[in-house]
Amino acid sequence: MRTGIFFYYQQGERLKDFPQALEGTLERNNVFLYDAFYPSKPSSSFDLDPVPIEILYKIHTPKMVDRVKATGSYEGALYSAAGTLSAARRILSGEITNAFVFTGYGDHHAGSDFFGGGCYLNGAALAIHELREKFGLTRSAIIDTDAHHGDGTWELFEKDPEVLYICFCALGSREKNHNVNIHVPTRISDFDYLAAAKEAFHRWAKPFQPEIIFWNWGYDGTVGEYGDIGLTPELHLKLAVEIKKGAQEICEGRLITILCGGSRRDYAKLIIPPIIELLADS
Ligand SMILES: [Zn+2]
Ligand SMILES: [Zn+2]
Repeated sequence: MRTGIFFYYQQGERLKDFPQALEGTLERNNVFLYDAFYPSKPSSSFDLDPVPIEILYKIHTPKMVDRVKATGSYEGALYSAAGTLSAARRILSGEITNAFVFTGYGDHHAGSDFFGGGCYLNGAALAIHELREKFGLTRSAIIDTDAHHGDGTWELFEKDPEVLYICFCALGSREKNHNVNIHVPTRISDFDYLAAAKEAFHRWAKPFQPEIIFWNWGYDGTVGEYGDIGLTPELHLKLAVEIKKGAQEICEGRLITILCGGSRRDYAKLIIPPIIELLADS
């Protein structure tokens, strides 16, 4: 297993302990850190370039991109999406098997012409577009276990038969053209959540046979978080075990874990390092 970590230095609390908290993991000879260089950070390495504007326009309207530029979060959004895009290219070219992408701004509330909830660009959608164009990829899957509904991702792939989107959230269960919403009650046990995830893999992901899986992973549903649905911090590693296993069965382990919701620094430090360790284990 060769695991890529895609990182850029971010403002705010939640990732203050990174990358230091990955000490030990970063020293493994099958783990590779791709670090971003950008103007507001002192230079160290130059492995992540921002997403070129012409690629942004394949998914988002020029007007929306202009509105994102006006938020002041454009740079962070570009490098967040750049990590996902770079991870996808490197996986398809065989350089790495799987990846963990540290984003400042997530994906799933960014649609073709709208954004919100801390999501400015849809990195998974941008990456899928690239993989189709450059690598002839046909089928991909996005598993979304952030606590909230991914309205942006849903809109982008609602009419797309080649992308399976499975969203776990509070909305009612529904299914449309390989977009699947799985209802999660306002309080749920780890056991029931895990059972729902296993069932989703068995029922939708396996038969769909994606060539790569994107995991929109948020920990905002954890106890004490802003999207608290009663999940414990321990749930996330168990979920990662299932998703990694599923990716190995379905698509030779090709998996990109994208950090989405969650705000607590203590949870980030507790949950993220073991997930990356797991990704890197053979
Ligand atoms: Zn969320
Ligand atoms: Zn949803």
